Amino acid sequence: MIRFALKCACGHRFDSWFRDNRAYEGLSAAGRIACPACGGGEVAKAPMAPSLAAAREEGADAAVRLRSLLLGLRDTVESNCEDVGSAFAEEARKIHYGEAPARGIYGEASAEEANALVEEEITFARLPWISRGDS
Ligand SMILES: [Zn+2]
Repeated sequence: MIRFALKCACGHRFDSWFRDNRAYEGLSAAGRIACPACGGGEVAKAPMAPSLAAAREEGADAAVRLRSLLLGLRDTVESNCEDVGSAFAEEARKIHYGEAPARGIYGEASAEEANALVEEEITFARLPWISRGDS
Protein backbone atom coordinates (compact mmCIF):
# COMPACT_ATOMS: atom_id res chain seq x y z
CA MET A 1 0.00 0.00 0.00
CA ILE A 2 1.12 3.51 -0.72
CA ARG A 3 -0.30 6.78 0.53
CA PHE A 4 -0.57 9.84 -1.66
CA ALA A 5 -1.40 13.40 -0.72
CA LEU A 6 -4.10 14.44 -3.20
CA LYS A 7 -5.74 17.68 -4.16
CA CYS A 8 -9.03 18.26 -5.99
CA ALA A 9 -9.76 20.97 -8.56
CA CYS A 10 -11.18 23.27 -5.88
CA GLY A 11 -8.12 22.94 -3.70
CA HIS A 12 -9.25 20.46 -1.02
CA ARG A 13 -6.33 18.39 0.21
CA PHE A 14 -6.73 14.81 1.40
CA ASP A 15 -4.72 11.60 1.76
CA SER A 16 -5.66 8.33 0.16
CA TRP A 17 -4.20 4.81 0.12
CA PHE A 18 -3.59 2.83 -3.05
CA ARG A 19 -2.21 -0.64 -3.75
CA ASP A 20 0.61 0.93 -5.73
CA ASN A 21 1.33 3.82 -8.07
CA ARG A 22 -0.23 2.00 -11.06
CA ALA A 23 -3.47 1.45 -9.16
CA TYR A 24 -3.55 5.16 -8.45
CA GLU A 25 -2.87 6.02 -12.11
CA GLY A 26 -5.65 3.68 -13.25
CA LEU A 27 -8.26 5.00 -10.82
CA SER A 28 -7.22 8.57 -11.52
CA ALA A 29 -7.45 8.15 -15.32
CA ALA A 30 -10.92 6.56 -14.93
CA GLY A 31 -12.04 9.50 -12.75
CA ARG A 32 -12.80 7.11 -9.91
CA ILE A 33 -11.06 9.04 -7.16
CA ALA A 34 -13.48 11.53 -5.61
CA CYS A 35 -12.68 14.37 -3.25
CA PRO A 36 -14.24 13.56 0.18
CA ALA A 37 -15.08 17.24 0.70
CA CYS A 38 -16.84 18.17 -2.56
CA GLY A 39 -17.08 14.88 -4.44
CA GLY A 40 -15.12 16.33 -7.34
CA GLY A 41 -13.44 13.74 -9.55
CA GLU A 42 -10.69 16.01 -10.83
CA VAL A 43 -7.97 14.92 -8.46
CA ALA A 44 -4.20 15.20 -8.73
CA LYS A 45 -1.25 14.41 -6.54
CA ALA A 46 -0.46 17.32 -4.25
CA PRO A 47 3.11 18.43 -3.63
CA MET A 48 4.51 16.91 -0.44
CA ALA A 49 5.77 20.23 0.92
CA PRO A 50 3.28 20.44 3.83
CA SER A 51 4.53 17.21 5.42
CA LEU A 52 8.17 18.27 4.98
CA ALA A 53 7.35 21.54 6.75
CA ALA A 54 5.69 19.58 9.56
CA ALA A 55 8.78 17.41 9.99
CA ARG A 56 10.97 20.50 10.20
CA GLU A 57 8.67 21.96 12.88
CA GLU A 58 8.89 18.74 14.89
CA GLY A 59 12.68 19.03 14.79
CA ALA A 60 12.52 22.61 16.04
CA ASP A 61 10.15 21.53 18.84
CA ALA A 62 12.60 18.84 19.93
CA ALA A 63 15.43 21.39 20.03
CA VAL A 64 13.31 23.74 22.16
CA ARG A 65 12.36 20.89 24.52
CA LEU A 66 15.99 19.77 24.87
CA ARG A 67 17.08 23.33 25.57
CA SER A 68 14.51 23.83 28.33
CA LEU A 69 15.49 20.46 29.81
CA LEU A 70 19.15 21.50 29.93
CA LEU A 71 18.24 24.90 31.39
CA GLY A 72 16.23 23.10 34.09
CA LEU A 73 19.22 20.89 34.83
CA ARG A 74 21.41 23.96 35.14
CA ASP A 75 18.89 25.64 37.49
CA THR A 76 18.78 22.53 39.69
CA VAL A 77 22.57 22.33 39.95
CA GLU A 78 22.91 26.05 40.60
CA SER A 79 20.31 26.12 43.38
CA ASN A 80 21.57 22.96 45.12
CA CYS A 81 25.32 23.13 44.71
CA GLU A 82 28.12 25.56 45.47
CA ASP A 83 29.86 27.27 42.59
CA VAL A 84 33.60 26.73 43.01
CA GLY A 85 34.45 27.97 39.52
CA SER A 86 37.83 26.92 38.15
CA ALA A 87 38.78 25.37 41.52
CA PHE A 88 36.42 22.46 40.84
CA ALA A 89 39.04 19.69 40.56
CA GLU A 90 40.91 20.89 43.66
CA GLU A 91 37.70 21.20 45.70
CA ALA A 92 36.35 17.83 44.54
CA ARG A 93 39.65 16.24 45.61
CA LYS A 94 39.50 17.93 49.05
CA ILE A 95 35.93 16.68 49.58
CA HIS A 96 36.92 13.19 48.45
CA TYR A 97 39.79 13.01 50.96
CA GLY A 98 37.76 14.62 53.76
CA GLU A 99 39.77 17.87 53.77
CA ALA A 100 36.67 19.94 53.03
CA PRO A 101 33.02 19.54 54.11
CA ALA A 102 31.06 17.11 51.94
CA ARG A 103 28.65 19.04 49.73
CA GLY A 104 27.51 19.36 46.16
CA ILE A 105 29.77 21.56 44.09
CA TYR A 106 29.96 22.58 40.47
CA GLY A 107 32.49 24.44 38.37
CA GLU A 108 34.89 24.03 35.52
CA ALA A 109 37.70 21.57 35.01
CA SER A 110 40.15 21.14 32.18
CA ALA A 111 40.30 17.81 30.35
CA GLU A 112 43.52 16.89 32.22
CA GLU A 113 41.98 17.78 35.59
CA ALA A 114 38.88 15.71 34.79
CA ASN A 115 41.04 12.73 33.74
CA ALA A 116 43.04 13.00 36.98
CA LEU A 117 39.78 12.90 38.98
CA VAL A 118 38.69 9.79 37.09
CA GLU A 119 42.05 8.11 37.87
CA GLU A 120 41.65 8.91 41.57
CA GLU A 121 38.14 7.45 41.37
CA ILE A 122 36.57 10.71 42.47
CA THR A 123 32.92 10.77 41.50
CA PHE A 124 31.74 13.64 39.34
CA ALA A 125 29.64 14.16 36.24
CA ARG A 126 30.17 16.14 33.08
CA LEU A 127 27.07 18.16 32.27
CA PRO A 128 26.11 19.93 29.07
CA TRP A 129 26.18 23.49 30.33
CA ILE A 130 24.24 25.81 28.06
CA SER A 131 24.11 29.57 28.28
CA ARG A 132 20.86 31.30 29.16
CA GLY A 133 21.14 34.44 27.10
CA ASP A 134 21.03 33.58 23.40
CA SER A 135 18.21 31.67 21.81
ZN1 LIG B 1 -12.83 19.03 -3.27
